[in-house]
Amino acid sequence: MNLTPEERVEILERQLHDQGHVDPDTIDAHITAIEEATEDGTGPSTALGAKVVARAWNDPQFRARLLDDAVAAVAEYASQAVPLAVLADTEAVHHVIVCTLCSCYPSGLLGNPPAWYKSFEYRSRVVREPRAVLAEFGMELPEDMALHVHDSTAEQRYLVLPMRPAGTQGWSEERLAALVTRDSMVGTGWPLSH
Ligand code: FE
Repeated sequence: MNLTPEERVEILERQLHDQGHVDPDTIDAHITAIEEATEDGTGPSTALGAKVVARAWNDPQFRARLLDDAVAAVAEYASQAVPLAVLADTEAVHHVIVCTLCSCYPSGLLGNPPAWYKSFEYRSRVVREPRAVLAEFGMELPEDMALHVHDSTAEQRYLVLPMRPAGTQGWSEERLAALVTRDSMVGTGWPLSH
């Protein structure tokens, strides 16, 4: 039997329901809550990740805690079901994340991954020819900048802490957060510059 992931989920959900483990209305309510949270950044979403990055740019102590123990540092924003590590970009090193096996993503902070992240093309090519893939995302990496590709798993998730854009001294966290894109936290984009 060839089932799509959606069909498998439906069957699993129906069986859990039939055996009294779950209530479909509860599941729908959770999904709605997650989707609504995306708007204001109170739940896992690009907006929530952007808040964390902007705070790390503005608050050196928070940045240090984030790099040392990301799960503990982000606990006040969202609890993480899977260990999370934050990878800080520098002038010398750029990080990019992938899940070569499936679609493991820092979902506890960013919510659902975009479709391209789950695509076979991205998963296979970003490991073999990362610079070419990033160029297709519009990122030209300086020749002397090292590029590290991190393979996420069910046991370890990653988030990229991009470099703070130049010319943003004195900006509030709210204003900085507007510069942080989803792709910049995956490593396939730079933050906006203004
Ligand atoms: Fe995966």
